[in-house]
Amino acid sequence: MVTAGAATQGYYALRRLGALIAFLALGTAAYGQTFPEPRTIRISDRVYVLLGPVQHANRLNQGYMINSTVIVGDKGVILVDSGGTAEVGRHIGTAVRRITDKPVTHVVNTHHHGDHYLGNVAFEGATRISSEMCRTMVLETGDEWLGIMERAIGRKLPGTKPLAAEVTYAEGTRTQAIVQGVRLIFWVPRGSHTVGDLLVHLPDDKVLVAGDVLVSGVVPTLQDGFIKNWIRTLDEMQALGVAHFVPGHGELMTLREVTGLRDAMFRFYSGVKQGFRNGQSESEIRKSLDLSMWDKLERSHVIGRNINQAYLEIEADSFDE
Ligand SMILES: [Zn+2]
Repeated sequence: MVTAGAATQGYYALRRLGALIAFLALGTAAYGQTFPEPRTIRISDRVYVLLGPVQHANRLNQGYMINSTVIVGDKGVILVDSGGTAEVGRHIGTAVRRITDKPVTHVVNTHHHGDHYLGNVAFEGATRISSEMCRTMVLETGDEWLGIMERAIGRKLPGTKPLAAEVTYAEGTRTQAIVQGVRLIFWVPRGSHTVGDLLVHLPDDKVLVAGDVLVSGVVPTLQDGFIKNWIRTLDEMQALGVAHFVPGHGELMTLREVTGLRDAMFRFYSGVKQGFRNGQSESEIRKSLDLSMWDKLERSHVIGRNINQAYLEIEADSFDE
């Protein structure tokens, strides 16, 4: 029997030995004892954030790569984002129990990317909430996402099933609800990071849980996104009077950091648009952009695809002009 402490020590020892040895040593055998622990940040009496690892899903993190938000209500917990596998979901559930012994009664999914919701299966009996489009995308792409996760972490995930939400909200709506005595506003902007983003605003706590519409310390992923809408959503969130912005990946953000991300996205968009108008190729555009805020970060490999996606969106828009 390996204790949790020993497993954690073992994990760090392996990391020190380097990626290759870690890669060989942790495969299927050690999983389950090697999940990195989240860092728990207390925002208020009832709102906590579990900051997960920021590296993309791999054998070391076993698909644990997101932030989750824990909202402790009257008789139960509202959990925003459940992780990338059933085991990650249970690991997050264990972290929730260190905060409160109330059960998780509601699970909110911020979007349909597997790292954020494939852990739903670990919260049996909880009511699942998402945008309408997120539900559609989970039904359409869930098995594909499961395969992506299995390949990234290097093993099959027989216990993980893509479970779509039962309660959904339509695009372009903001709906206030009292859940477990907590006032929540479910905000579904026009498709931004994906076609079906759902942000959770807690006006009384001055918190916005933004999914991957906000990221910190990693490059925003535009592959399934819509950059013009995304910039507009970033504009709108700055007007909410929020003090604590919870990104899908990375450290909590201040209003100033949200403004910084918005400006970086706008410069990126404007630069690609200028290049498109000048008839430049995507590789020429890449050379002309100032990418210094992103090219040293985690996931800098997505920059090329981001340029491609922005280019396609700008090209499609140009037909309407
Ligand atoms: Zn995402």
